[in-house]
Amino acid sequence: MARPDGTRQRPEPPRPSMPCTSTTTRCEFWTWSEDCLRPECCTQHLVELAVFTHDLLRRNDILHWIDYGGLLGAVRGGELIPWDGDIDFGCLRSDLDKIAALGPEIAAAGHKLETSDPLVARIYFSEVNLQHADIFLWDEHDDVLDLHAYPGFSWPGMEDRRSFPRRFVEHLETVSLNGQPMPAPSPVHEFLSEYRYGPDYMTPARGVFDYELVPEVSAEEMTPVVRELLEELGRGERRLITVEAAHPRPETGFRARWASAGRPLAAPPAAVEAAGAELVSASDRGQPAVEELLRSIARIRQTADELEHADATLFVRRLGRRSVRLARMANTRLRRRDRGPAPA
Ligand SMILES: [Zn+2]
Repeated sequence: MARPDGTRQRPEPPRPSMPCTSTTTRCEFWTWSEDCLRPECCTQHLVELAVFTHDLLRRNDILHWIDYGGLLGAVRGGELIPWDGDIDFGCLRSDLDKIAALGPEIAAAGHKLETSDPLVARIYFSEVNLQHADIFLWDEHDDVLDLHAYPGFSWPGMEDRRSFPRRFVEHLETVSLNGQPMPAPSPVHEFLSEYRYGPDYMTPARGVFDYELVPEVSAEEMTPVVRELLEELGRGERRLITVEAAHPRPETGFRARWASAGRPLAAPPAAVEAAGAELVSASDRGQPAVEELLRSIARIRQTADELEHADATLFVRRLGRRSVRLARMANTRLRRRDRGPAPA
């Protein structure tokens, strides 16, 4: 933002304007701090959306179940995971027309239906507050349900979570999400373990926003060191998101750079070695998942460092220019004083 004197204001992290409501934009809590935890206003809206969506689909006789993070949170602790940003449902694609016909009813409740994405129907909290419930559209064939998602839609250590046997949604069970009953695939423990988050799903493990950052990790590769590297990658990504939010420069953002560079991510070998020396023992080096995670971590750290450093140099340069200007002004004044009062 330019000031009247032409200098540019030092960028600051976006200020939370809490609480968000249906007439404000949503809280971008993932940019607020490196914890990026969801504030109470957003939790209330997501639970409201979950209850609304479940009730709407139930009244209209549309098969549905909660899925992904919402399901995991309900089973693990009875509530939405503190850093989750949306609520997910699943339904059959054959019911899409019935869902699309509910648009007016959804709008009458103050929400907004969007059905242009072939993968998912979405109910926004309001026209301006874009918190949402996603309803993933599953195709049915030969007693199997398929989701035509991109390949990166897998959780580390899961071979594939884009299909599962239909039997899991033939007799749903009820789980509690923030005190609200929700329909869930059954048996839910088998579903979460075999088709969603792996046998360790009861142990919280924070994911990474950008699937492109996460290499394909098979169940056998999911060792303790790989698990730790995934956590470190998540921390690095959250730091980068906060740094980027405070230094909005689209041309230097890692997404733009990496999009043009494409994968595999090219981190400088020295940065990869430094991350390796810090994070893993020598005997863990060489494993493909370890190496690829180290490259991702090194790249993300370097990008965040560059952004912070670029801002620091800019600040010092600006300070330098201002000091020179002040010195010149002081000098001029001194010389004037030496010459005595200006002639009247
Ligand atoms: Zn909020």
